Amino acid sequence: MRPVIVAANWKMNTTPADAGELAAMIASRTREPDVVRVICPPFVCLAAVRDALAGEDVAVGAQNIHHELYGAYTGEVSAPMLAGLATWAIVGHSERRRDAAETDELIGRKVGRAIDAALRPILCVGEQLAERDAGRAIEVVARQLEGALGGRDPEGLVDGGLVIAYEPVWAIGTGRNARGIDAAEMAAAIRSTVARLGWGDAAAEGLPVLYGGSVTSANMGEFLEEPSIDGALVGGASLKPDEMAGIVGRAGMTARARRAGTEMR
Ligand code: PEP
Repeated sequence: MRPVIVAANWKMNTTPADAGELAAMIASRTREPDVVRVICPPFVCLAAVRDALAGEDVAVGAQNIHHELYGAYTGEVSAPMLAGLATWAIVGHSERRRDAAETDELIGRKVGRAIDAALRPILCVGEQLAERDAGRAIEVVARQLEGALGGRDPEGLVDGGLVIAYEPVWAIGTGRNARGIDAAEMAAAIRSTVARLGWGDAAAEGLPVLYGGSVTSANMGEFLEEPSIDGALVGGASLKPDEMAGIVGRAGMTARARRAGTEMR
């Protein structure tokens, strides 16, 4: 059975002076044993968040990693540098595709680097509004997955705990979320794409797919009502403990219901 996951992307917010307190507050208000919780603060806050979360079952993630291991890449951070600081890493976020011109090929290399460094990758994919309006959303996301994951050993990706976050670009930070039904359609398309990439049906069925894009405590339920959606990557709302309490609480309901459903079968 796939886990229910809520990952917080704090983006370029918080400082080492205040991140620990926020992380501790969120951890204490989201204690749902059936939900996998991850907090991804800025690099400079990783140590503070790690320390604040000692004794809590909340993982720490990075928001990005470099595609090389070391060298002349001023201002960058490589996957092995995160040892002891993080156990997850977001790769291919649309804000990095936009601002750092990251390509699918480069993002695929980051996925490989994350796994080699025992960081669980959350690979973000998603279409622009014009692409959805043109009926090309599924084709665009399939191309992103093929570009990033094609040719990579499926077993390594599965063992490395790869998670996909479907994040329609037009829904990120806009307050305009996708419909649950569209996210579910995309999750099915994502799994059939990786099945085609050599994963096979069983491994593809086990791939966790999150939704991201203006998720709040008010709309989280719409996504989790879809059996193909396994949780959320949350941006803006993840800085608000009240919102996170609602989002993770809703995820806990779903996790318990799904487990009970499996047990009954
Ligand atoms: C994100 O940063 O991945 C995100 C989905 O942001 P928001 O929830 O603010 O739309």
